[in-house]
Amino acid sequence: MTAKLDTQTLRNLDQAHHLHPFTDFKDYAAHGGKIISRAEHIYLYDSDGNKIQDAMSGLWCCNLGYDQDSIKQAVFDQLQELPYYNNFFRCSNQPAVELASKLCELTPERFQHVFFTNSGSEANDTQIKLVHRYFDLLGKPNKKHIISRNNAYHGSTIAASSLGGMKSMHEQTMGLNYVHHIEQPHWYECGGDMSEAEFGLHAAQALADKIDELGEENIAAFIAEPVQGAGGVIIPPDSYWPAVKKILEERDILFIADEVICGFGRTGNWFGFETYDIEPDLVTFAKAVTNGFMPLGGCLVADKVSNVLLNGAGDFAHGLTYSGHPASCAAGLATMAVYEDTGIIESSARDLAPHFNAQLQSLVDHPIVGQVRSKGLFAAVELTDDKAARTRIAPDSAAAVYCRDVAIEDGLMVRQTGDAMIMAPPFVTERHEIDNLVAKLTVALDKTA
Ligand code: PLP
Repeated sequence: MTAKLDTQTLRNLDQAHHLHPFTDFKDYAAHGGKIISRAEHIYLYDSDGNKIQDAMSGLWCCNLGYDQDSIKQAVFDQLQELPYYNNFFRCSNQPAVELASKLCELTPERFQHVFFTNSGSEANDTQIKLVHRYFDLLGKPNKKHIISRNNAYHGSTIAASSLGGMKSMHEQTMGLNYVHHIEQPHWYECGGDMSEAEFGLHAAQALADKIDELGEENIAAFIAEPVQGAGGVIIPPDSYWPAVKKILEERDILFIADEVICGFGRTGNWFGFETYDIEPDLVTFAKAVTNGFMPLGGCLVADKVSNVLLNGAGDFAHGLTYSGHPASCAAGLATMAVYEDTGIIESSARDLAPHFNAQLQSLVDHPIVGQVRSKGLFAAVELTDDKAARTRIAPDSAAAVYCRDVAIEDGLMVRQTGDAMIMAPPFVTERHEIDNLVAKLTVALDKTA
């Protein structure tokens, strides 16, 4: 390891040379940021010596917190044995083979194939190529259009950000002209006078309407997160997914479930598609597949699609230098072993999530809280200045940004999206740490009110 630099030197070098993701560079230059120097259990320590409880599992990925020596050891051991080789040209490696098999074992029978990438963004790019190749091989070359939803987040590459429905991202790229966006199932923001149940059906109907508008013969796939994460932990009304499922069952359109956040336990089951009883043809995974310790993503492909792909003539012209990287796959295998051996996905859903949800619900009566929504260990607290009208609390989310900053300064790492405070705590969080999370959030809300 290189010698430790003092905080001021790090700050100066950071400002001088490091362009940060999703950052307003002028704002960062003016205010600077935190240097995170180490982590333990669910706590981050910055270079000023502050201890911060992580209520976001890193970036929705460290579901098992920061300890997990078996994952770290697996990476170390793999680097000794085979630090790198690629999977092109008929080569493979044991961790990639084993992880692909394990992921197929953990998902419904129809999933028997995996394509590895380094990230969720690359995995969603890959999904586009897979569905296009599938329909080309079936002799349906017109089926190229893809339907997604407003405010979805599917990643940052040009293709993935086109799939996403984030306005700010679309403004900074030309995007892909064959991706179309429909209503998001976000009752609080878009539901108007409708009941949640009515709005769920209305949002589902937007899919049927878009299919009719574009023509089923032109559409390859519908892509969706079971719960929209980065968009604001948007828990769909109960009526939404059954109605979408029915629409898709009647159409020749593939369904890609983006499980990059929901996957590996976040909504209380291994996958969000189980929580909502939906049946994707393709699944995107990343983040918690390695507990965030190594970069890894990928696509799980159901037999319906893989049977066609495997019988196609010629190359699938796609691949990444690090597809199936042995050290990342070793991390993935060790992570799956922890999930399975400890049963933490099941036990945290049974014991911790109800406590988390109950504690958060105590905030519903707070003067600036409009809605508390949660599923498993996934939650948003929506701020408002008028509970009945559900109006925004301040222009440009200023109040929510302030609330987030107060919480972080007070030692609680949360995120803000629009007017919502966002949380996705690690599954290893203890009950008293959930209480601390809610207490600190309450203080931040009080100071914001
Ligand atoms: N899909 C979803 C649902 C995500 O939340 C994210 C990242 O937050 C991505 C895709 C992109 O993943 P990555 O940042 O690993 O490219």
